[in-house]
Order: sequence, then C-alpha cells, then structure tokens
Amino acid sequence: MVKEINLRVSPKEAASIEILRKKICESEAIAPADLHDLRIVRRSIDARQRRVMVNLTVRYAYGDDYKIGMPAPVYEWRAVPYEAPRVVIVGAGPAGLFAALQAIMLGWRPIVLERGFDVDKRRLDLARISREKKINPSSNYCFGEGGAGAYSDGKLFTRSKKRGDVSEVLRLLVAHGASPDIFIDAHPHIGSDKLPEVIKNIRHTIISCGGEVHFNALVTGLVINEGKVEGVRLEDGSEFLGKAVVLATGHSAHDTFRLLADQGIPMQPKGIAVGVRLEHPQELIDQLQYHSPEGRGKYLPAAEYSYVTQVDGRGVYSFCMCPGGVVVPAGSTDGELVVNGMSASARAGRWANSGMVVEVRPGDFKEFADYGPLEILEFQEALEKRMFEAADNSIIAPAQRMKDFVDGKISESLPGVSYAPGVRSKDFNELLPSEISSRLRKGFIDFGRRSPGFLTNKAVMIGLESRTSSPIRIPRNRETFEAEGLPGLYPAGEGPGYAGGIVSAALDGMNCVRAAANKSI
Ligand SMILES: Cc1cc2nc3c(=O)[nH]c(=O)nc-3n(C[C@H](O)[C@H](O)[C@H](O)COP(=O)(O)OP(=O)(O)OC[C@H]3O[C@@H](n4cnc5c(N)ncnc54)[C@H](O)[C@@H]3O)c2cc1C
Repeated sequence: MVKEINLRVSPKEAASIEILRKKICESEAIAPADLHDLRIVRRSIDARQRRVMVNLTVRYAYGDDYKIGMPAPVYEWRAVPYEAPRVVIVGAGPAGLFAALQAIMLGWRPIVLERGFDVDKRRLDLARISREKKINPSSNYCFGEGGAGAYSDGKLFTRSKKRGDVSEVLRLLVAHGASPDIFIDAHPHIGSDKLPEVIKNIRHTIISCGGEVHFNALVTGLVINEGKVEGVRLEDGSEFLGKAVVLATGHSAHDTFRLLADQGIPMQPKGIAVGVRLEHPQELIDQLQYHSPEGRGKYLPAAEYSYVTQVDGRGVYSFCMCPGGVVVPAGSTDGELVVNGMSASARAGRWANSGMVVEVRPGDFKEFADYGPLEILEFQEALEKRMFEAADNSIIAPAQRMKDFVDGKISESLPGVSYAPGVRSKDFNELLPSEISSRLRKGFIDFGRRSPGFLTNKAVMIGLESRTSSPIRIPRNRETFEAEGLPGLYPAGEGPGYAGGIVSAALDGMNCVRAAANKSI
C-alpha cells in the first residue's frame, strides 16, 4: 500500500531518511523490512516557537507496494502547423512565455516579441551594469528573455488562488528543468543561477513546436482596424498580425505605456509601494528567526522574514525578501536609480535583503494629479530620478544605517554591502517624501518591537525600491479578458496590473490565451 503520514520533527531528523523511516515504522507499526520506499511530499519550517520544528508530509510504500511512483511531469508537445491561428505576444517574461506554452497546448502558433536579448547575452549585460555603472535600456534586470523574473530569487510563492491552479505552473517549470523540490517546499524558489536554463528550455519548446521568439523586437504601437486590435507595430515599422495580441510588457515598460496612452488605449493610475531595500547580515536574521545565537546551524535554510503593519492609513511592509541574496541595480534606463534583490538557489550569501515599502495610492501626491492615468508612473519616475541625482548622477546608491534613519542621523560610516555598484551615505529622511519616510520610520520601530534586534545599525537601507508593481492598469473585461473597448487585445501579467510575481504572471498569461481561444470557438 501507499500511504501518507504527517510528521513533526527536528531539523536534524528531517534531514535523515533513516530517522524518518524509523519514525514511520514506530508510529504505523510496520516492520522495518516491510517499509520499502518513502518520499517527502510537503515540507515547511515552523519557527514560531523557541524550538524550531519541521512539518513534513511523507508518502511511503509498504507491504506489497515497493515504489511510490511519482513520475516527473511529462508533456507531449505537439508542433502546431504554420497556418494555425496566431497569437502575438508582447514580452518574454513569465506572462508572455507561459502564454506561448498555453497557445501551443491549444494548437495556436505563438509569436513572441521581446525588446531585450536572450538570457545568455543578458547575463553579460547585467555584469556590465555593475562594472560600468550604466544601464543598457534594452537589456537589464527588467528587460530581456525571462523578463523581470529571470534574474531574481525565483520565489514561486503566491497566496492568491483566484487566478487558477498554481501547480500547473510548477509542473511546467519542472518539465523545463526546475528542481522537483518546488512541489515540496511551502515557500518554493528556484534561484537566479538556475532560472536562465529553465527559461532557455521554454524557448526551445516554443520554437520546436512551430512558435517564434524574436529578440531586439521593441513593440511601439498596436495595429487597430475598425476598433479591433489585429496586431502590433515594431520600432522599425514592421508589423506582426494575429487573431489575438497578448500585451505582457511587465511593470517597467514606461515608454510603451506612454505610447499606448498616446494611441488612446484606456488606462487608469494604479497604486504601488515605494521605499528602500533593507540589508541585514543573514547570520543576524538566522539568529532572530530561529531564536538561537547559533543561527541556523547545519540543517536549516537561510531564514526568511515577513513584516506588515498599518501606519497612518497606509500599509508598510517587507516585500520580496531574498535570504542569502544580493541587492541589484534594477533600473531599466539611464538616469534613474532603482534597486531590487535576488538570490541564487543555495541562498548561501552573507546578506539578507527585502524591500521595505510604503503603500502609495492615486491621489496621494496632488502635484502629479494632472498626469491622469500616468499619475503614479510620473511620481515613480520623478522619485527614481531624484535618487539618481542624489547619487551625483550615478547608480552608486544612497544608503543609510537603519537605526540612524530612525534617529534622523546621517550615517558616519557604512558597513560592507552586497550592492556591487557601491553605496554612498545619504539621509533618506530628506530623499524620500515625508509621507513615505515618516511611515517607514514608524514601521521600522514597530518591526523592531516585534523582533528585538531587527532594528539595528548593522542593517543598511539602500534606495530606491520603487518597482513593486505596475503604476497603471489597463481595464479589461472580467469574462473575456479583453481590454475594455478593444477586442483582440489581452492585457496580461504584471504590466497592465493583473499579477504580482512570477507565478501569478504566468497563470495570467495562460488565462488570457485560453480566453482568446474560447472566444474563437
Ligand atoms: C530583481 C527582481 C527580483 C524579483 N524576484 C521575484 C521573486 O523572487 N519572485 C517573484 O514572484 N517575483 C519576483 N520579481 C517580480 C517578477 O519578476 C515579476 O512580477 C514578473 O516577472 C512579472 O512577469 P510579467 O511577464 O508580467 O512581466 P516581466 O517579467 O516584467 O516581463 C515583461 C517583458 O516584456 C518585455 N517588454 C516590455 N515592453 C516591451 C515592448 N514594448 N516590446 C517588446 N517587449 C517588451 C520586457 O523586456 C520583459 O522581458 C522580481 C523582480 C525583479 C526585478
């Protein structure tokens, strides 16, 4: 028989199959010789109490059954004919790539148009940003194959179930080379060292099934005929036509949003969150989260944290935490300073970082109201520019020790940080609008109260964290997924405001293509 059992064990016990085997035999009264195969199918760490425990669900085969039989997901990809209905997909981020996979599954031919370059060329461009401190507007942490998710922590955790079956995205990722561990862990992640290979494999599936992926293909407008979107126009004037256009540009395509607004595409301003990356020594976070001066020891992973509070009517929270990660320059064009975080699969780095951000809503900054749908976009860009100028027109980022910020003091010295282009001591109380800095200060005090030791001068703030989500929304019909008043256009993923993260963007891309296929039945 094959059965499942829930076990609550110490981290050391969780790491030993022999101990787990013994525990199952004892608790289920099975003779050791009769227990043949076992596999962990769910794993989560419970660090709420002083003694950290690991909750496991273990599947085991005993008696007449010798194997659990958990085959890796296999997809039988079938090539689509050249004449199949075409779906034009703008952007090769998670929304665009998963839209393309879904199109193939439904017998449609995806044409993916990506303004940046392939993941390998992109890697070199990212190294150049840190070395030369200049952003290539076609190839950076936001633009290029894999989108903003390619060089990230690759967290695959989403609380929202409303977009559909998360496990479908995980299965497709594993079928393209991600570790099956992502099925098991409560907070799965892939890592920036492993993601590019998975993305390349997805591209190979798309192309080998008859789809197309074009790099260096900047879409500058929509082809609209009698009120229906029939395709897109590229910078060089060429056009790609299809039965449906999936617009999956991500949140940083400000130039594209402006062009679309000029073309009369309906848009609304959307709230974002703005603040800094906060970087602690990972050792300190391990000590705090695992309640031990020894830190994480041999058997626990680099610890995570998550904080959220309300200050003066706005949310203040940690965002996109990267254990063992690094802070990276994540702007998409020169003249702006934006940071974000990423980590490799092992999360073995010396630092822990997360965005520490304050919610900003349309109407919060009256001086931007005249920009209409682009109100939040203009606010975001103005702040990113201010940060760049404060850094003497460079991406050497403003930085301040956490407690100094709370105490209103400029840091006299800064510790070593992971941010490769370098940092310079500045006062975020002056650089950030007071509506944001005052809430951030209060938020930090609150988080420090909840977790003594968290509010410390060992932690450094690095700014600006501003690309937390899209500053616009393109309204779409709830049932058909088409842009309101623009049949044929499917706004997808994070850019038009329908996702926040890799998994939700991927699901949304798939949903848009399904909706397009349903319409044409
Ligand atoms: C450094 C970093 C770390 C992150 N870490 C995580 C994480 O650990 N977990 C998580 O869930 N999320 C993470 N995120 C957020 C996540 O990457 C995004 O939510 C997700 O990638 C959104 O997917 P998308 O497909 O909607 O857009 P994107 O991934 O932004 O992709 C959009 C693509 O469209 C292309 N494009 C834009 N305009 C045009 C145009 N006009 N013509 C042609 N192509 C165009 C862009 O080049 C880009 O490749 C991170 C983001 C960053 C920047």
